[in-house]
Amino acid sequence: MNIEMTDQKAKVNLLGMPRHTLLNFFESIGEKPFRAKQVMQWIHQYGVHDFDEMSNISKVLRSKLKKISVISGPEIIYQDVSSDGTRKWVMKLPGGSSVETVLIPEGNRGTLCISSQVGCTLDCRFCSTGKQGFNRNLSSAEIVGQIWNALASFEDIDRVNDRPITNVVFMGMGEPLFNFDNVMDAISIMMDDFAYSISKKRLTISTAGVVPAIDRLGEFTDASIAVSLHAPNDELRNELVPLNKKYPIKMLLSSVKQYLAQLSDKRKATIEYILIAGKNDRKNHADELIELLRDLPCKINLIPFNPFPGSGYKKPSNSEVKRFQDWLIYAGYITTVRTTRGDDIDAACGQLVGQVEDRTRRNERYIKLHEQGSVS
Ligand code: SF4
Repeated sequence: MNIEMTDQKAKVNLLGMPRHTLLNFFESIGEKPFRAKQVMQWIHQYGVHDFDEMSNISKVLRSKLKKISVISGPEIIYQDVSSDGTRKWVMKLPGGSSVETVLIPEGNRGTLCISSQVGCTLDCRFCSTGKQGFNRNLSSAEIVGQIWNALASFEDIDRVNDRPITNVVFMGMGEPLFNFDNVMDAISIMMDDFAYSISKKRLTISTAGVVPAIDRLGEFTDASIAVSLHAPNDELRNELVPLNKKYPIKMLLSSVKQYLAQLSDKRKATIEYILIAGKNDRKNHADELIELLRDLPCKINLIPFNPFPGSGYKKPSNSEVKRFQDWLIYAGYITTVRTTRGDDIDAACGQLVGQVEDRTRRNERYIKLHEQGSVS
């Protein structure tokens, strides 16, 4: 049983427990299994963190739960809404680090981009998160706490029926498959009908290519998968995504293909491809990519590079992006371009930095706002 202990030593945190773990927990304290479903609904569907609000739980059980457990997530220290409706939250974690979570609304859809680690070990050359180094893995409560908190910050919504969050993508800080167990627990909660009911097609694990973890993913989940490919050959990918030296492209794509083959429906992988001017956006790159992906059921998502200080790479022009997209579409691939959202609040792709180092410009800004009482 994977039960997370909180700072209050003897108490366990129920927020990050998937249903099977909650069942074991209630069994271990001599309670009926249906309590797991009830408590899950209170926590995730009604956003409750105080046991006294759980009106269909007896007073005796509530006071027992208070003695041995808590419902505790990260603390929102800053939130902002962009002029285009994109929302960003900065959430503080025990120990002082923080992570950023972004919600991108689009018609009836709301896609929450969540983090799985503070920082990242992988140092992809185009990524500002990678430049900060790695601090630690998030617990399942800290991962699920991002959706829990995001929903709580909407006023006057019915958490079950209004559904401002319909999709979840692990594309924030960190490599989710390097935090395998906690990510699997969090996914299990997000997909649970007694929690958030996010469907397998709307929950996407994005990976830089941790092949051994992809190989065992099917034992734990049937969520969708996205691969941060970014290059059509090993030589270029070794430079852009150093993990490629360990798990080269052929090995990676074969592992993804096997994962898709195990799913009960015909699903496609998403191939993420950051377009960097002059680096990987030329006709020869498109031609190589077209050949490389021939046998993989996939769609391609192009992401124009978002420059940050010291990156050394350039953003392609709109016409260069369109040209690359056309080459792929002409070859028969469904190819979308990720439009930049939330630019004015630093929520665009590649701008999520959280707080790994002690004092960055933005940390100072958050602290100042916090002191002024301008943030919740
Ligand atoms: S792109 Fe993803 S895997 Fe690569 S360094 Fe950034 S956060 Fe890590």
